[in-house]
Amino acid sequence: MGECHWMAGVIVEVGARRFAVPYECPCCGAAPDSELIIALTPTKDRPVAPETARELGFPYCMRCVEHATRWESSSNVETGIKVLGLLLGLIFGMMVHLAVGIALFAVAVALSILLGRSRRAQAKAACGPACAATGLAVEYRGWSGNASTLEFASHVYAARFAEQNAAKLVNISPQLRKVTEGHKLARLAIPTPAAAVRTVPSPATVADWIARLETATGRVARLDSLHKALDACPDEADRKALIDTATRIELAALARKLDVAPGPTKTRQIQKAIIETRADNIPDELRDELVRQLEAQLR
Ligand SMILES: [Zn+2]
Ligand SMILES: [Zn+2]
Repeated sequence: MGECHWMAGVIVEVGARRFAVPYECPCCGAAPDSELIIALTPTKDRPVAPETARELGFPYCMRCVEHATRWESSSNVETGIKVLGLLLGLIFGMMVHLAVGIALFAVAVALSILLGRSRRAQAKAACGPACAATGLAVEYRGWSGNASTLEFASHVYAARFAEQNAAKLVNISPQLRKVTEGHKLARLAIPTPAAAVRTVPSPATVADWIARLETATGRVARLDSLHKALDACPDEADRKALIDTATRIELAALARKLDVAPGPTKTRQIQKAIIETRADNIPDELRDELVRQLEAQLR
């Protein structure tokens, strides 16, 4: 089973709601040309705080989006066919003959098992040699009030994530320590990263950074550019220009989503957007500006 990869997944805990996300595919390590929304998956032993983010955007490569979504959807396909078979079985069982109903349901169950199996086989076949999981390579367990917990299938990605959030790590497990130390040793042995890393040079001016924000292919890519731009631009006026651009793009995307006439529904949607923005893993300056402008829309 492909799921066996998950047994070796590495848990990383960060003592913050906001953290850096390494810009590479968390499954195979390739340069991302796509992105994936990872939904909150709380576990029984780790209750989440009410203000936890409900989802997180992750960079991903297209190939891994393909096999991961195919794998994850296989159980939905199975359930769907079984439910349909049960409904048809009931109708035919009552209207024609009980035996016909039972036979239909049995056929649906057999079909669901076959299709589920073939979808999982397709997902497995679509994996590359560097893939760490057949399904999703990231699990987001939420913000507990003290820590954000994530689980990564790839040890390399877990090590890079830990490296980029080194100052914020909490409850470091012996497993994570082992993985990060192994990563450091590998770095010393091979000075160039083994994974394909994007080699686009950093823009020189704020105008270039703004152009990059405007032409980003997705939200995760745009937020990654914003993080890098803010790191590169200490000047206050420059930072404001960057935050203004990012805010404008975020609000435009939100306006497309909240496309309803002003009224109680719209008010509720904006309130929900404010809560989501507060929980979102975005730079503090962007969060503050977005919340400020969304609150102004409520007045
Ligand atoms: Zn990948
Ligand atoms: Zn993959």
